[in-house]
Amino acid sequence: SHDKQVALVTGGNRGIGNELVKQLALNDFKVILASRDPEMGHEAAQQLKELDLDVSYIEMDVTNQVSIQQAAITINKKFGRLDVLINNAGVYLDENEKLLAMEPFVLEKTMATNFLGVYYCVRSFIPLMEKHGYGRIINVSSEYGAISEVSNPGVGAYKLSKFALNGLTRLIAAEIDGDIKINAVDPGWVSTDMGGPSAPRTPKQAAESILWLATIGPEGPSGGFFRDGKPISW
Ligand code: NDP
Repeated sequence: SHDKQVALVTGGNRGIGNELVKQLALNDFKVILASRDPEMGHEAAQQLKELDLDVSYIEMDVTNQVSIQQAAITINKKFGRLDVLINNAGVYLDENEKLLAMEPFVLEKTMATNFLGVYYCVRSFIPLMEKHGYGRIINVSSEYGAISEVSNPGVGAYKLSKFALNGLTRLIAAEIDGDIKINAVDPGWVSTDMGGPSAPRTPKQAAESILWLATIGPEGPSGGFFRDGKPISW
């Protein structure tokens, strides 16, 4: 129906993002699967449509501001609103090198995707929430963004990007008014291309542990960091 809430998931073509798209659609959302690769995005959306799910595809590279702005314009034209934004797209490029020893490009690319990509997505999509005074933004972060992890050497670019993302989540929460909430979540260690085959969690379990934040009520949290529905410190 025309009353269905509209949800957008970045990096929706595989891994946790793809499972989030599926579960949102199963929970009666109209879901937009964003992918930077048109072929992979179309294919992933098509597979879900064949299950009779309300999923459409949009091209979006979160490291490209023009691409994000164009997606926002298209979604505004096509749907007129956005209710849920899940910033899921992310990269893990470290190879256990130290920050000062790594190629600076690794840090730049990681921050551009995991941190600035979220910043630009929030900037571009919040107006589509402010139009109707409602929105739920979920940033898929990581326990690696906790200060205890940042204090340990190793995978410095990834840790710093998620630490910054957690800070961004808290700062933006303090800036936004109305019933618009933004929270960060740690999905746990998940068996995806990024998590590798020995990870104990399935993408389905991870998505289930994230999705409650998409439907929290007006009294629900904002600016928090959660795992399995419970606040965790960072
Ligand atoms: P995957 O590597 O399986 O998938 C990553 C997704 O992000 C892909 O769809 C990829 O697109 C997309 N992506 C990467 N860069 C961009 C970009 N510039 N623009 C648009 N999309 C992009 O990872 P996961 O599913 O495991 O991870 C999803 C999120 O969960 C990430 O933020 C990750 O940091 C976080 N996380 C994962 C954990 C795990 O154990 N797996 C643990 C903690 C956090 P493409 O196919 O085009 O590359």
